[in-house]
Amino acid sequence: MNCLLCEQKLASTPSWQSLLAIEKTPLICENCSKSFERVDIKEEGDVVDHITSIYTYNEPMRDYLHQFKFLQDVALAGVFADELRSELARKDAIIVPIPMHPLKKIERTFAHVEEMLMAARIPFEDLLIKTHTEVMGEKSREERLSMRNLFSIKPGSNIQHTTYILVDDIYTTGTTLRHAASVLKEAGAWRVEAVTLIRAEK
Ligand SMILES: [Zn+2]
Repeated sequence: MNCLLCEQKLASTPSWQSLLAIEKTPLICENCSKSFERVDIKEEGDVVDHITSIYTYNEPMRDYLHQFKFLQDVALAGVFADELRSELARKDAIIVPIPMHPLKKIERTFAHVEEMLMAARIPFEDLLIKTHTEVMGEKSREERLSMRNLFSIKPGSNIQHTTYILVDDIYTTGTTLRHAASVLKEAGAWRVEAVTLIRAEK
């Protein structure tokens, strides 16, 4: 088997680590794995109560996202499965992926956040619909905040008075997460947290 990112042949002699984790087959080589930079940012907020990000947006991560999302290499969905699972497994909450706009989903053929959760075998509920596409840069902060919510709750969904955790690939301005959290809270969610794979600099 070859590394999904650099095509380098993966070591065939198992290391003691892989012998201990019997079922774990690495998808990428050690060099590619080491090129991603952990960030572990945790933030408290008002609309989104708590945000955790796992990696920085460095060049290898930009290449990974490009290959996964834009070149639609769905096999890459599992690259960060362990990291996502360890971030989400210890939390007693309902996991909600940030959806794409339906038109974008047709264009991209798969929902990348859902694919990452499925590859990590993390159960989730598909509760949100993206109704608008965010337009960045052209509007002032106030105009953006007063815009209609980017999301609505999927008809027939029952929002409980409990904790929800939003999952997204990348956190840039936080607008997406704030909109998703506020629509969940308006519908009755008690607490909304978020976990993003990547934290980009503003
Ligand atoms: Zn590699």
